[in-house]
Amino acid sequence: MAIVNTVTGPVDSSELGRTLIHEHLYITFEGSQYDIIMPFDKEAFVRDAVNRLKAIKEHGVITFVDPCPIDLGRDVSLMREVAEKAEMNIVCATGFYWEKYGLPLYWRYKSAEQIAELYIHEIEKGIENTGIKAGVIKVATGEPIISDAEVPFVQAAAMASKATGVPIVTHTELGCCGPDQQKIFADFGADKHRCMIGHSCGNPDPAYHKEIVDNGTYIGFDRIGYETMQPDELRADNVVKLLDGGYKNQLMMAQDRFCHLRGMHILGKIMEMSKEEVDAAERAMRDGTFGMPFTDIFTEFFPKLRARGVSDADIKHIMDVNPGRFFSGAPF
Ligand SMILES: [Zn+2]
Repeated sequence: MAIVNTVTGPVDSSELGRTLIHEHLYITFEGSQYDIIMPFDKEAFVRDAVNRLKAIKEHGVITFVDPCPIDLGRDVSLMREVAEKAEMNIVCATGFYWEKYGLPLYWRYKSAEQIAELYIHEIEKGIENTGIKAGVIKVATGEPIISDAEVPFVQAAAMASKATGVPIVTHTELGCCGPDQQKIFADFGADKHRCMIGHSCGNPDPAYHKEIVDNGTYIGFDRIGYETMQPDELRADNVVKLLDGGYKNQLMMAQDRFCHLRGMHILGKIMEMSKEEVDAAERAMRDGTFGMPFTDIFTEFFPKLRARGVSDADIKHIMDVNPGRFFSGAPF
């Protein structure tokens, strides 16, 4: 048992229940706050986000972890408003994004110790003047290697986890560098069972997944539904391989989706979407009809697992038991 910081206050880890370990409400890129051409309609956003969270409550979800990094538009007051209206536990993060899309210049010239000090402050004292405390530490790295600029942020996360017992969830790019993240975590004193190597389903190779779980951390298959990165059929095959290998206790599943991305034109560039697709996505986000529901994991992906013989008990274990243990700090 451990106390977990949510945006609406402390919750015992035994009460987290069914958890989506990596999703987002609102994300954006630095600079969007100056965009007068496309203003952000906060009221419409809150209405849409609350509806989406209510939809996953019907699938038994009690806790929603939004590991939005500081520099990806993190707005913890907005998260609290949504959490209160939807009556959902929302866990927010401390930590920065990766070099290509984040890492503010100011923090690039700080030492790992100074960055860790910020992370520990946001966990123990709170974020800015909101009183809201971070419940998880976010790490993000690029590819094909962890860049020199990113290294101190990974080290700082390990130091902050060691000091506070708060777990780490990571972003990896193109399913690489998971083992490199694990090495830094170990070198800087984080407990393996308090680390989850995220987006590992971005790598199609079961040998990569096995290396991560054999190194003793959690593994995130947390981009379910992003078919252009890896097909879900392959994700499902690889989930089965992990279960057959006896790694049920180390597996976490989520979708890394968002309610609202202010800056769809940037994601459109990254994902090679047409201008029409980008415009349609932006319109849909404003209208509350954006088609990436958080419920898809239940309605689309779990049936793929069941078709491969995965039991409901195993799915329940992964969704209801593993996240609580991860936050409790208990070993596997
Ligand atoms: Zn994410």
